[in-house]
Amino acid sequence: MSDKNILVINSGSSSIKFALVNDSQDEFLLEGLAECLGSPAAVVNWKQNDEKKSLLLDGADHTGALAKILPLVQEVAQGKLTGIGHRVVHGSAHVTKASMITPDVIQVIKDAAALAPLHNPPGLMGIEVAQTIYPDLPHVGVFDTAFHQTMPDYAYRYAIPEHLYTGHHIRRYGFHGTSHMYVSRKGAEMAGLPVDNSCWLVAHLGNGCSTSAVVNGESRDTSMGLTPLEGLVMGTRSGDVDPSLHSHLYRTLGWDQEKVETVLTKESGLLGVSGLSNDMRTLIEASEQGNARATLAIEIFCYRLAKSLASLSCALPKLDGLLFTGGIGENASLIRRKTLEHMPLFNFKLDDQANQACTRGVAGKISAQGHPLVMVVPTNEERQIANETLELIAANV
Ligand code: ADP
Repeated sequence: MSDKNILVINSGSSSIKFALVNDSQDEFLLEGLAECLGSPAAVVNWKQNDEKKSLLLDGADHTGALAKILPLVQEVAQGKLTGIGHRVVHGSAHVTKASMITPDVIQVIKDAAALAPLHNPPGLMGIEVAQTIYPDLPHVGVFDTAFHQTMPDYAYRYAIPEHLYTGHHIRRYGFHGTSHMYVSRKGAEMAGLPVDNSCWLVAHLGNGCSTSAVVNGESRDTSMGLTPLEGLVMGTRSGDVDPSLHSHLYRTLGWDQEKVETVLTKESGLLGVSGLSNDMRTLIEASEQGNARATLAIEIFCYRLAKSLASLSCALPKLDGLLFTGGIGENASLIRRKTLEHMPLFNFKLDDQANQACTRGVAGKISAQGHPLVMVVPTNEERQIANETLELIAANV
């Protein structure tokens, strides 16, 4: 086993997800989740060598939780921790790649908090606590927005007055960049193509969903925009709606801005249409039992996904393949099939057996011979964050 170990931390408002990644091992040495932080139910659950363990945290906050997690990590790493990679959601237009956490980068994360109010502040809290506990280790920020900073201006600008862009940073940023980068690279490797001469459409379909067009290893367009609400139908998010919907709801129902935002981000998407669940598994089961609203939610999801993929093809000079990832993309053969049925002009055709075999982490080609390549490529954001962290540390030695 190599002695290069990276701890990956993803700090949310009341949770910390973590993984200890060794650069020569496929399996993570340790992975876990501390949740309900700051409440009496605070707990950390982790997995080591397929063994599950749990520790009550006595109401600990982020500081208390990391104080318990970090010694455990050091023990498993046998004292050899090379650095810490922190997932950060928003790096605005300033951050185009993984960056050492410096006072300047911390300022960028703070400044971008207005664009990601739910994500950047807890991300920063995780960084500051980890830096306090391990001031001598290199800390690296890996940003969800960074991979999409290669989009051309005609893809990232909205058609609104220029001063809103120049003075207020209103533009499309894109998210899930770590996943789109990992999956497009892995897809090229699986297809035996050089990353710098390959073109992909990528569909990342989890609770949040986004598509991207990747040309020679660079993002050229993506479905999410200023915020992660733009684009596809998601678990509880509406995705694209008419921009006048906000004022229409205000005028006709008297809803204020907060109510509209809550409805579009937490009560819409698969949950809103089905009235049943935001979970695709539940909807597929309900649809099979004849639930019409679950069926409609699935139909809207697939049609809108197909429309997004077709529109992103405008960013590609050629198409080497379409890649599915995320919990839905990696598991739901029905969703993959229905989506491609809405794209007859692309000549996609699935091999039914291969499509059904790709589930629970099984990767591979699912397209029929003689038709454009379609693959299932399980994402691995922790691995990507660890790789980028290691590369940056090596370049700075
Ligand atoms: P997150 O964005 O929170 O990381 P995931 O990538 O884990 O989410 O994806 C969660 C989604 O994947 C849920 O809608 C879940 O129902 C769906 N999913 C997971 N397994 C299956 C499956 N076997 N069939 C259909 N959907 C699945």
